[in-house]
Amino acid sequence: MVAHVVVIGAGVYGAAVAASVTRRGARATVVDAGAPGGGTSGATFSWTNSCGKQPRSYHDLNVSGMEAHRRLAADVPHSDWYHETGNLEWAATDDEHEVLREKVAGVLDYGYEARWLGRAEVLDLEPDLDPAALPDDGIAYFPREGWVEPTRLIGHLLSRAGAEVVRGDAVTGLDVTGGEVRAVRLASGRRIGADAVVDCAGPHAGRIAELAGLALPMRNTRGVLVYTSPVAVAAARVVHAPHVHVRPDGGGRLLLHTPDVDGAVRDDGVDGSTVDEVVAAGRALYPGLRDATVESVRVGERPVPDDGLPVLGRVAGLPNFHFAVSHSGATLCLHAGDLVAAEALGEDQADALGPYRFERFATVR
Ligand SMILES: Cc1cc2nc3c(=O)[nH]c(=O)nc-3n(C[C@H](O)[C@H](O)[C@H](O)COP(=O)(O)OP(=O)(O)OC[C@H]3O[C@@H](n4cnc5c(N)ncnc54)[C@H](O)[C@@H]3O)c2cc1C
Repeated sequence: MVAHVVVIGAGVYGAAVAASVTRRGARATVVDAGAPGGGTSGATFSWTNSCGKQPRSYHDLNVSGMEAHRRLAADVPHSDWYHETGNLEWAATDDEHEVLREKVAGVLDYGYEARWLGRAEVLDLEPDLDPAALPDDGIAYFPREGWVEPTRLIGHLLSRAGAEVVRGDAVTGLDVTGGEVRAVRLASGRRIGADAVVDCAGPHAGRIAELAGLALPMRNTRGVLVYTSPVAVAAARVVHAPHVHVRPDGGGRLLLHTPDVDGAVRDDGVDGSTVDEVVAAGRALYPGLRDATVESVRVGERPVPDDGLPVLGRVAGLPNFHFAVSHSGATLCLHAGDLVAAEALGEDQADALGPYRFERFATVR
């Protein structure tokens, strides 16, 4: 019987797994090398969506992730970390518009909500957008999408889990004997016995896998996120404009991002002129942003397994060691984390987790 699960990593995945483990009646200990929410989950665009995600099973997994956020938000009074305010997206060129048109047709075909809006309808939704920045029509709107505040979600989940949270103590070893992980060893010298272990170490998941003798190939990428100072702009939705992606970030701040700036990450920081370009693109969209300054620039590292799809659930050759690792974790964490927790406690999740098994890469050393 699995009575105690050690969860490695206190990002959105670790918090979601721990909350599900304790809700199902077992004990959880969450160990983080730093502070909860201090990893990728603290530096993410965290747009909840299943927009253009392939194959179909992965699209459906993300839709289930969105539904899980909706359910949790409905269950918890004042759960204002979840913002299902919709997403607007348009293209700059005919070719890009054709790609968007195909994406909208594809998701509609899957039964996902999407519709086309014209400029006037968009200005009803987002009145502080500059009309001149918008095309006359051909603006895609995905009303069930939105964004989450991951750090506040993590706070809620960990508090609800009632798990022991070990902070600032990295996992440096795993005791593996008889084909099972028996304990987790920490930098402090502490050893924590475990009936099951879940690797939720985000971009560092491969290093934890190595401690278990497993090779998990990752191709993580870094992204730049620009946070403005609080500004009196009416911005409620996620907006994907051609040169900048924008969403609110609470307290009147806006978060600006675009894949164009990801190349600006250097080992010694972020290229300032590129950040200026993103801010200029933001101001061209929301003129009220001229009153804002850049409050912070964060670099997040996307945890991306080698084929781009999640790695979830038990490892066949080490059955009490489990993964909960993916990009799009802000969208997926509650649903996928729950499936992984159920499996860690002995419930077979072969149908749901079949496409995401570690064995598709497996080389057990
Ligand atoms: C720029 C950017 C944009 C993104 N946009 C979106 C988006 O729009 N929508 C979306 O759904 N997703 C998005 N993502 C992805 C999403 O943010 C991640 O998938 C998610 O945050 C990963 O959460 P996690 O819990 O797996 O990892 P993390 O939040 O990184 O948590 C892992 C934790 O493990 C800890 N850890 C690491 N090594 C050890 C160790 N040895 N011992 C103990 N603890 C350890 C770390 O300290 C960390 O706290 C984006 C990511 C980035 C970077």
